[in-house]
Amino acid sequence: VLAFVNGKLIPEERATVSIRDHGFLYGDGVYETLRVYSGRAFLVREHLKRLAHSMRGIGLKPPMSLEKIAQAIDRVVRANRAEEAVVRLTLSRGPGPYAFDPFPCGPPNLVISVRPFEPYPISFYQRGIVAAVVSVRRNSPRSLPPHVKSTSCLNGILAKVESKRLGAQEGIMLTLEDNLAEGTVSNVFVVKKGAIMTPALEGHLLAGVTREWVCRLARRAGYRVLERKIPLGLLASADEVFLTNTTMEIMPVRRLVVAASRGARRRVEVGTGMGPVTEDLFWRFRLSAEAQVGKEQLF
Ligand code: PLP
Repeated sequence: VLAFVNGKLIPEERATVSIRDHGFLYGDGVYETLRVYSGRAFLVREHLKRLAHSMRGIGLKPPMSLEKIAQAIDRVVRANRAEEAVVRLTLSRGPGPYAFDPFPCGPPNLVISVRPFEPYPISFYQRGIVAAVVSVRRNSPRSLPPHVKSTSCLNGILAKVESKRLGAQEGIMLTLEDNLAEGTVSNVFVVKKGAIMTPALEGHLLAGVTREWVCRLARRAGYRVLERKIPLGLLASADEVFLTNTTMEIMPVRRLVVAASRGARRRVEVGTGMGPVTEDLFWRFRLSAEAQVGKEQLF
């Protein structure tokens, strides 16, 4: 397996970066995860747009143009003859002194690796997963902005640990104001009376590329899509709940475990499998991913 490290393709086991890289020392970096379908990375333009947004968010200068980065992604995919795969792109601050100050650091390290796509169990899609509404809150946009896809992931990791303790496959985080934010690695959608709702961005959550794509597909299909504040009660009374991300695509949720104070918890059933709206969108998504086969790259 070959990885792209600062312009060179290197066998993954020999690919290294400095132990003084601030990405390693302090989580000072940004990243993207892309899905490859039939040998081609999907929604590259959208992912790179978000990467640029993340870089701006932490004041990291791109080591090469977005177009060059798109070419580098393509190079790694081809070099590994990846067909159904996942690309991980990491851009870290680069080596520097043992101090938070990022200004003396650099140059940034750009690493792109690819791994075979390992599908989630089919039963997850047929029956839906269990998601836990955890007590760990999503970072405030006034502290560590969730709209920056940064390698400082401890907020999500703590939420993930709690969700596993609650027996769930994914953790859902609320904002400090008690509204729905997002999953640890996913965005959340609620279907109620035929309308599709998802938390509005406003800096409170990551602008998932899949979230945006699903909103577009749903609007094009004639659904009413509302990006708004979603209180916990609305989630718990939903007709259908599903999650989106690059590797899950569209994942139905069948049960919510809600962590309450002092270890108490509540269970809410939100369906018995893939609901009709979730299923419709699931297939629309699959078709849209397949439709890119044979088309030219956007960049
Ligand atoms: N929210 C968070 C916190 C994430 O880490 C991710 C992706 O890993 C998502 C949402 C979904 O984003 P995307 O659809 O771009 O994969």
